[in-house]
Amino acid sequence: MAATLSHLIGGRLRPPAGGRYLDVHEPAIGAPFARSPDGDADDVAAAVEAAGMAAAAWAATPAAERARWLRRLAEAVEARLETFAAAESRDTGKPLALARSLDIPRAVANLRFFAAAAEAWGSEAHAMESGAVNYTLRQPLGTVGCISPWNLPLYLLTWKIAPALAAGNAVVAKPSEVTPYTAHLLGELSVEIGLPPGVLNIVQGTGGGVGEALVRHPAVKAISFTGSTRTGAAIAAAAAPQFKKLSLELGGKNPAIVFDDAALTDADLDTLVRSGFANQGEICLCGSRLLVQRSIYEAFRERYLARVRRLHVGDPLRADSDLGALVSRPHFDKVLACIERARTAGGTLLCGGHAVQPGGRCAQGWFVAPTVIEGLPADSPTNQEEIFGPVVSLLPFEDEEEALAIANGTGYGLAASVWTRDLGRAHRLGARLEAGVVWVNCWMLRDLRTPFGGMKQSGVGREGGVEALRFFTEAKNVCIRY
Ligand code: NAD
Repeated sequence: MAATLSHLIGGRLRPPAGGRYLDVHEPAIGAPFARSPDGDADDVAAAVEAAGMAAAAWAATPAAERARWLRRLAEAVEARLETFAAAESRDTGKPLALARSLDIPRAVANLRFFAAAAEAWGSEAHAMESGAVNYTLRQPLGTVGCISPWNLPLYLLTWKIAPALAAGNAVVAKPSEVTPYTAHLLGELSVEIGLPPGVLNIVQGTGGGVGEALVRHPAVKAISFTGSTRTGAAIAAAAAPQFKKLSLELGGKNPAIVFDDAALTDADLDTLVRSGFANQGEICLCGSRLLVQRSIYEAFRERYLARVRRLHVGDPLRADSDLGALVSRPHFDKVLACIERARTAGGTLLCGGHAVQPGGRCAQGWFVAPTVIEGLPADSPTNQEEIFGPVVSLLPFEDEEEALAIANGTGYGLAASVWTRDLGRAHRLGARLEAGVVWVNCWMLRDLRTPFGGMKQSGVGREGGVEALRFFTEAKNVCIRY
């Protein structure tokens, strides 16, 4: 019998008020394996009420005590790493090995990092020569909403709830309805460790049913959202009349730029391959546009393709599967349609370009081969729109100026990677690339203290380190004359 998931509201696991459930699919087999609450505005109202009742006491709890709760939660998740990793892999289709090495450890790290940050964070003071002193209070907002997507479910959920809780807010979180499982497990653990009721609430359901109600609820003071640019725009429009604080982490069409002086090692090439295809290309930071200097284009292409062709797509449970299944049937259809559009537009498919049928228990799963395309102009839809699948497009360029023009020539501005041994060039591009994150000779090397987020249509605001603590607090200046 399929597992039945719950909301976490007011410290209790609860069924949906309306009694409705959504099927939760296992992408690798293409069939439902659980059912999750199809929550509605009544569930959101109950969660916001529970958060409101808990908020004042949580805000008054010393930071060191809040940090202890976050560490307890981190320990509890870590102790069940295998259970969480298995659930994340089953729910998303990603390789179990990836959930075990990346998703769940990072969720644990998020909780620990913001526990430490809460304790270490100080406030500023500014003395005036005229005989006054200003100090800044950073006070929690009260009840805040955290809305997360399906690609890194627990990783991105904890990336929001940890700083929100650390800063002293009560949280109503809304995980993606496509991947609700590990959020449900986190709810179970919160009850098990005795987290004060109402401090963390998790409402499961769709964007229309739960997300919108959360954004519009007048008692919710801020929304931290990660997801698509289209949804981000809808949230911004809905939140604006109430002047809510908003943090929006949205889509990307990230360039990886390889110069002829890059002297790529095999390990560098592995990183470049990973930057295109890790998590089936379903990471907002993936480099889906691979810009290569013309003088090395052909030699690079052959080395790169040899590696991509070695990637194994298959059952996420198998240790040798580099790529698992795409997260849902609609997303699988979308990615294949994008590939078809590239083909029709005259793109050359250098490898992949089709669904994969691994057989056995995965015969009906939603697998797509790693796909590399060349020959499409920089302004084509393939090179402009986010595909969010295992699809990389190769683009040759002549020189630094042309590379910059292509790299900056989309509506997005999330991340970029630059491959060069020329230090001057690295600094020039670091300054001129329109991206919130620029990696030089690396990719997705994450330091949780750094500001994280996008420019242009990739978002508004920054997460990470003190940026997140600032977002989840109101700054108030107190000026005392003496
Ligand atoms: P999505 O926008 O469809 O959904 C994200 C979340 O928003 C889900 O929980 C969904 O239920 C909810 N939602 C949908 N409509 C809503 C509404 N009107 N009001 C409130 N909530 C609503 O995105 P997705 O398909 O789950 O995730 C993929 C997208 O997320 C990609 O575009 C990817 O680039 C982006 N992403 C960005 C980052 C980043 O840090 N910038 C990280 C991961 C993913």
